[in-house]
Amino acid sequence: MLLLDYTRSDINEKVKMKKDTFSNLKKVVAKAKNISILTHVNPDGDAMGSSLGLFHYLKKKKKNVKVIVPNSFPGFLKWLPGSKQVLVFEGHEAKTQKQITGSDLVFILDFNNYSRLEKLSTLLNASKAPKILIDHHRQPDTRFDHYFHDEHASSTAELVYDFVCGIDPKNKIDKNTATCLHTGILTDTGSFRFPSTSEKTFRITASLVKAGANNAEIYNKVYDDYTEQRLKLLGHCLDKLSFIHEYNAAYIALSEEELKRFDYKKGDTEGIVNYALSVRGVKFSAFFSEKDGIIKISFRSKGKFDVNKFARAHFNGGGHVNAAGGMSKLPLQQTIENFLNILPTYKADLNK
Ligand code: 5GP
Ligand code: MN
Repeated sequence: MLLLDYTRSDINEKVKMKKDTFSNLKKVVAKAKNISILTHVNPDGDAMGSSLGLFHYLKKKKKNVKVIVPNSFPGFLKWLPGSKQVLVFEGHEAKTQKQITGSDLVFILDFNNYSRLEKLSTLLNASKAPKILIDHHRQPDTRFDHYFHDEHASSTAELVYDFVCGIDPKNKIDKNTATCLHTGILTDTGSFRFPSTSEKTFRITASLVKAGANNAEIYNKVYDDYTEQRLKLLGHCLDKLSFIHEYNAAYIALSEEELKRFDYKKGDTEGIVNYALSVRGVKFSAFFSEKDGIIKISFRSKGKFDVNKFARAHFNGGGHVNAAGGMSKLPLQQTIENFLNILPTYKADLNK
């Protein structure tokens, strides 16, 4: 059921997608018994939602399957069905090695280059199992064996839906799968507001709701689960938001000390980068936070300004046109100065 009434060509470079045929993918999955699903470091709603959605489907098909994450995921995703069975590499290195070594198929979800696994990448490198990439980020690595990649998809969860329906049209999506995939779509579309949200996204979401995903409950669990300190941290960030009017840009920077002061827990700063874009005229927003001496950066934009390119060119990162991330090993203040010094190069793009 639920196969939508339109098709896409298998490989169509013009719209930046690279996909193996469903019959080929189906064969690869059918052959496998022991499967690992890997997603990126600091997993977000789409990383967890797409991975666990696929996990529930494969379990139903009687596969031995495990979701593996490089490090822990935020509390507001810990209610997801199946999340307690996720294997966290950090702190469980030997177990993870055993799991990957014993896998005869590995799925790579919601990222497309090995560096997004950090230390876990060594284990993927060593694995001889076939690797299927399901992802929507730009410029995928070419070292995977099978592709289900489409940079125009709103989310990896949307692609997992297509993937499952494509290889197994008779399958009935169950409530757990629907709940996880809905969470992935909801979070990666910014609650259905980013331009990547297409007619297809809504149609898939409608099928997921029909299959048992409870929209109000999911929204509530993901977004209305703040601690008091997290909301106060947001207030602090908004208070110190700096605007650079000449470039229609804005940024927020948080030191490790500030994070400690607000009793920072993983996921507490998620989404803060978006607020600056709600100000009239602002097209580019950056968020810097210092953890263990490394600066993690989030970039967001409105319109044509390509933050994927910006993050790749200057901050060792990447992502999408309107949402990307990167990092810096320089001290916080120097990283900001560096950022401010780069901005003039983009003056024309930011003033279009
Ligand atoms: P966030 O700012 O929410 O961490 O990430 C925004 C988007 O950029 C996400 O799709 C995420 O997967 C991607 N991203 C974040 N950090 C990096 C990075 O360091 N490298 C790459 N290639 N992508 C990143
Ligand atoms: Mn995603």
